[in-house]
Amino acid sequence: MSFHDYVIWCDRPGCSQRAVFKIASRWSDGLVDELKTYSLCCADCLDDRLLLARSKQAQARLAAGETLDPPAVYRLKRGARDRELERL
Ligand SMILES: [Zn+2]
Repeated sequence: MSFHDYVIWCDRPGCSQRAVFKIASRWSDGLVDELKTYSLCCADCLDDRLLLARSKQAQARLAAGETLDPPAVYRLKRGARDRELERL
């Protein structure tokens, strides 16, 4: 399987559509920051998955100095790195 054939599927159980959005929060410990991914989903499941991501983010336990932003929606782009994704 080549990289270009790679398909990302929506992660809501029972859904069989391709994922087009990534729901993620920016996490930082003051030195490093990265996106913590909650979900990869299709347009139909976006509201559902965003609600779930918000509740997970709200329950996250953070160590001193760590920050975790509220979940944001990014448009998935094949081969793009997190920093290159378009935030919606
Ligand atoms: Zn879906």
